[in-house]
Amino acid sequence: MEWNELTTWLTSEPVRKVLGNPRVFRQGSILLHAHEQVNGVFVLTKGDIMAQLAHGGMLALQAPTCVGELGFLGHNPAVATVECKSEVEAYFIDRGCLFALNEIDHHKGMELMLLLSRMALERWGGRYHDRYIALVAHDDKKAELVDFVRRHRDYFERHNLIATSTTGKRLTAELGITIARTTLSGPMGGDQEIGGLVSNGLIEAIYFFRDPAWSAPHLSDVNALVRICEVHNVPIATNVATAELMVMNR
Ligand code: PGA
Repeated sequence: MEWNELTTWLTSEPVRKVLGNPRVFRQGSILLHAHEQVNGVFVLTKGDIMAQLAHGGMLALQAPTCVGELGFLGHNPAVATVECKSEVEAYFIDRGCLFALNEIDHHKGMELMLLLSRMALERWGGRYHDRYIALVAHDDKKAELVDFVRRHRDYFERHNLIATSTTGKRLTAELGITIARTTLSGPMGGDQEIGGLVSNGLIEAIYFFRDPAWSAPHLSDVNALVRICEVHNVPIATNVATAELMVMNR
């Protein structure tokens, strides 16, 4: 079962009798609080949300999707605070609902469980979207990166973007562009987070404008990121000239 099939099933007559209509959450409402116990999963049928991960990263997700499945299935507290970025429609499915849905249609109930389990496993492994394009810049190079992304805005808007914390904030503030995921700041381990995603095949390309005139405190992380791109044959542009060529070829 995929999301579209699931949401169609949730709105079918027999299921509506159990779940009712989706709940409507206003922009700014909080669906989940990090560290609080989660007793069910939100299945979103409409809207955008932003998850502030307990370790510091951020994630932008769009319906159809779910949140809370990691805590719910694992009996763990929520790993993120989830805020509605637009009006959101969502079903809240707790244990009781799951059993009731299973009674209505055993096959579909199992499919739902499998879908939620798959989401939990993928997210546990760091996959929230299909592959990302990563954007990183050292402080004195951030303006250059913003300018580069502005010039190729159409291209970047068609992709799921990941950025280190400060770079991501700057891109959003200056261009209003959606960053699907932000990591910790580079010196706090953000480059390593991106490196981990490279190793897992989740990064399509990296635009990393590093500052050759600055000896970064996390130089070893920066070098490690370049190395892991070489290992996995992932394109990485470290200056504007290479970046221009990379964009032209995509
Ligand atoms: P920043 O990190 O985007 O948080 O500044 C970039 C880096 O220094 O690697």
